[in-house]
Parts: sequence; structure tokens; C-alpha cells
Amino acid sequence: MTGEVSSLPGVSALPVASASSAIGLYARKTAGFDERLAHTKQLLQQAWGQHGARLLQSTSLGAEDMVITALIAELQLPIAVATLDTGRLHPETLALLPQIEARYGIKAEVYAPVADAVVHFVRARGLDAMYESLALRKECCGIRKLEPLSRMLNGRSAWITGLRREQSANRAEVPDTELDAQGRVKVNALADWSWADVWYFISTFEVPYNVLHDQFMPSIGCAPCTRAIAVGEDFRAGRWWWEDENAKECGLHKAHSNEELKESGATA
Ligand code: SF4
Repeated sequence: MTGEVSSLPGVSALPVASASSAIGLYARKTAGFDERLAHTKQLLQQAWGQHGARLLQSTSLGAEDMVITALIAELQLPIAVATLDTGRLHPETLALLPQIEARYGIKAEVYAPVADAVVHFVRARGLDAMYESLALRKECCGIRKLEPLSRMLNGRSAWITGLRREQSANRAEVPDTELDAQGRVKVNALADWSWADVWYFISTFEVPYNVLHDQFMPSIGCAPCTRAIAVGEDFRAGRWWWEDENAKECGLHKAHSNEELKESGATA
């Protein structure tokens, strides 16, 4: 990678690495990093070549997605970057949107839930109904995430995510490319990256990141559904921590098998 992303116009306050910062704790160059980085760049370039303007990056504004946005900018690929503002995000998460624009000149598209649906749900079930049952949690995710995601992906043939195999047992088989439930190609551009890789890249190329990562939140979602993890806990232990391990997905990443992708000839 070139040094193009080493200056930080418009970014006033990057987190400072210390022994307890995410960079201090995790950033490490391990064997094969350069090859994994080259592979990711190739995946992004291939996806753009195959899908063009029908491709977008769906960013949660988490560490992995910030790496992907930085690479899209470095490769000068005119790929749309889009995020979901569920209405329950931490202010620290939303603070990354102007940083992305200032740093990379990329104005992320923001998709919000339908206001009437949120009001109706909150009036009927309460603001924090997600703690009451799995069904209510999924209903909240459906209104605040899945419906806006379907609008985000409308008209797109492919999307880029930051899913990694290392993130959880549920994601251990994540392929580089797969099909989502609607048959779009999903490019998991960092599928084989480690957490050390992610932070080595962020540290080396001074990528803006969510300061909550410095507070032991490796996986950050909505504020009511994210907590810090303790030493020894799994990567996603702070997400929907009151639920059974197997339920810990919001439905954004339900996919068809890679076999269907191969049969379709849509591999990126
Ligand atoms: S993560 Fe929590 S607050 Fe966000 S949409 Fe799902 S249940 Fe609702």
C-alpha cells in the first residue's frame, strides 16, 4: 500500500495508541499479512470490475469496515459506501461519518428506519423491548436494520462486508464470496484476516476508528445491545449478551451457500 492515506486533513482527534488502546493491545504484523492484504485488494478490484455501480460497501463503521473504506479510497474505486443509522447507535459511531468524508472525500449514504414503524413499535413494546424476548429483539432488528438494509441494497447486485472467520463460531466458514438470501453477491473482503491484521492496518495507515474499540468493545452495534467484554471472553460476547450464543446475529448476513454462488458463475 502506498502512503496516500498517511495525512489526515480534517481529522482533529484520532485516538492515541497506548498500552490499553486497541492498537496497543492488538496491532501486530503476522506471517502472511502482505499476501492477505494483496488478496483483499484483488477481491475489491474484481468486484468493482464485475459489478461496477451496482456494488456497494455496507459499513457498520466498525474496525474491519473502516479498513475496507480506506482500501476503497486507496484503490480509487468509486464504490458507494453506505451505513445504517438505526437510531440507537453510540454518538462515537456516528462521529466517524464526517471523519470518513474529511479523510477520504467519501460521503457515506445513510439509511434510517421508517419513523412510523419505530414509533409504533416503541409505543407498543417500549424502547428497550429487545431485552424481553428473542422475538422482540428480532422485531426491533427487523425494523431498525433489515428494512433499511433492503432499501440500501435495492438495485445492487453485490455488497462488500467486513465479516471475518475469526469473529465467531457462526462465522467460522465465511467464504470470500457468497450469495445472500436475495441472490446478491456478498464479498467478504477480510474473511481471512485476523484481529491483529485489522489493527496492524489501522495503526500503519492511521485509519480513523471508533474510540469505543479502546474501551474493550471489539464488536460494536446499537448502544443497548453492546457492552464491553472481559479478558478471555469471545469477540462477540458483548453483542446481545443476554441471549443464547446461536441467536447472536441480526439477520443482516443470512446467506445462501457458496455452492449456489459457484453454480451461478458469480464468483468475484
Ligand atoms: S441491535 Fe438492538 S437496538 Fe439495534 S436494532 Fe437490534 S435489537 Fe434494536
